[in-house]
Amino acid sequence: MENKLRQLYALQQIDTNLDELEEMKGDLPTQVRELDGKATELQRKLEEHEHTMKSAFSMRDNIDTEILSLKEKSERYQAQQYEVRTNREYDALTREMEHAAVTITRLEKEMETLESKATIARTEIETTKSELEEINKQLEQKRTELAEVSKANEDEELKYRHERENVVVRISKSDLGTYERIRKAKNGKAVVPVKRGACGGCFTKVPPQKLLELRQNKKVYTCERCGRILVSDEIVEKSSTEV
Ligand SMILES: [Zn+2]
Repeated sequence: MENKLRQLYALQQIDTNLDELEEMKGDLPTQVRELDGKATELQRKLEEHEHTMKSAFSMRDNIDTEILSLKEKSERYQAQQYEVRTNREYDALTREMEHAAVTITRLEKEMETLESKATIARTEIETTKSELEEINKQLEQKRTELAEVSKANEDEELKYRHERENVVVRISKSDLGTYERIRKAKNGKAVVPVKRGACGGCFTKVPPQKLLELRQNKKVYTCERCGRILVSDEIVEKSSTEV
């Protein structure tokens, strides 16, 4: 049990050191994450606009072909009109030509709509491209800054990560779960020493009976008020002489 408490306390110390190193990075990681998210979103928009433009242009081209073939047909009908012998045939051809003319007008309007849709998309592409360029520039800058800060602390961070791995394997899954849960809820501090008979986290007095039991290091005790794991001076001393 004493061993277990020592491992938990050691883990807390390592994590506190890692937290301090993380703090030195300031809000750079957050900034990088946010910029990265923006860049992804802009990239998605860009692809969407490109798709819109491409499909509008291709639909326009198809309609253009359709109009062309309708016009050719019309010309053929017109030529045929000189050759027909009956009024009925002549009228039928006239109706076909009229029908073609109506369709052509409708298709030309559709073409105009597609044309302007494609033009709008093209403008959006230009805007999005320059926005994306700007964001990527900022992202690169922040990434470089972050890399510089990280580089400065790299050795220390690696040392702590390595120590952490060694400690974590010796702690049971359920204890580790409890530790992580308290750590998350209590601003990073899950294991605290008892200082002058009080919880080192929230400074609530620990009842004398509990203090006695705690010094025996036979059980995991948590603070009644804040729920943090309490460790005795003995554990703290043994941990500090080890380091
Ligand atoms: Zn407490």
